[in-house]
Amino acid sequence: MLWLLFTTGACNLKCTYCGGSFDPRIVPWRVTYDIGLLKRLIEADDEAVVIFYGGEPLLNPGFIMKVMDNIRAKRFGIQTNGILVNLLPRDYWRRMDVVLLSIDGREEVTDRNRGVGVYKAVVKALNYLRSVGVKRIIARMTVTQLTDIYEDVTHLLNLGFDYVHWQLNVIWTEKWDVLNWAINNYLPGIRKLVDLFVESARKGAILGIVPILGILSAHFFKPYEGPPCGAGYRAVAVSTDGRVLACPIAVREDWAVLGHVNVGFKPMRIQLPEACQRCEYRRYCGGRCLYAIMEGEKYWGKDGVEIVDYVTKETIKEILRIIPEMEQLISKGIIKKEDLMYDPILDSTEVIP
Ligand code: SF4
Ligand code: SF4
Repeated sequence: MLWLLFTTGACNLKCTYCGGSFDPRIVPWRVTYDIGLLKRLIEADDEAVVIFYGGEPLLNPGFIMKVMDNIRAKRFGIQTNGILVNLLPRDYWRRMDVVLLSIDGREEVTDRNRGVGVYKAVVKALNYLRSVGVKRIIARMTVTQLTDIYEDVTHLLNLGFDYVHWQLNVIWTEKWDVLNWAINNYLPGIRKLVDLFVESARKGAILGIVPILGILSAHFFKPYEGPPCGAGYRAVAVSTDGRVLACPIAVREDWAVLGHVNVGFKPMRIQLPEACQRCEYRRYCGGRCLYAIMEGEKYWGKDGVEIVDYVTKETIKEILRIIPEMEQLISKGIIKKEDLMYDPILDSTEVIP
């Protein structure tokens, strides 16, 4: 199971699509539960993947060190904006199996979304983490109107990130004209990225573009039973107050509370909406996002949700078109089928943007 541990509700940035720190009455800025009880829960899970999360998790390095020193897990990682990498000693960085750095692509895009100077700080963090010996570093993009998906993803791969993953800035943000942008900019960019992926596979190299890998993996290996992020059924988030939540975004919603560190929790049985149950892309998509399933219409209305769904389906279709060629490359021995295996739970990525 994936365990997203909030170390704090505070953040040192105020990105345009997020707004910064949580209200401390909802997500306290310090951990207020007994870490011994958390240890008991996590160590009962032989497959525990522990990822530090926030707010900005590096604002509470003491908690990270305490967990890494005292709790046994199969894998450790962190989702951070990378500004404060120096607050965690090198030995702990070396023990991180995966680091996700938030960066939105080219400098002008990142800095307009996240603040002036952020891009340079993240690049510095990337180089520092490499020098320390971190092996798996993932760029975690938020995709907005400013994004050119082809330019920004290739930029991040060229910077040296092992993988690039992104989420669309939809549903939990103010409504914007996603449809026009997707038709004129995003979907053509996805097509170019998929072409680039195949071109590289023809030379035997698999590019670390998470949505492409995650969808191909669902085809060649195991379909997704629910949202690929695992929300509620393969993944939980532990808030600083000890609540065990189905999704780290749903800190205010009662439906998301699965239990508490003090008393344990019950994973969710994912019940997808009828439209998803009937959908031909279900095995690749799993309903995309539990939060959007539960709250989407409240924020963006039925038409808004349908537009996001259109973009999801077009993205999946675009990726599925390369399957015959990937099969050929596998049978010719140019790539190995195993190279297309990708489990988002191990990296705390969501696969479907
Ligand atoms: S593509 Fe849309 S309808 Fe189909 S499974 Fe995903 S979210 Fe549900
Ligand atoms: S994809 Fe949706 S349900 Fe999954 S973690 Fe992200 S917001 Fe939560």
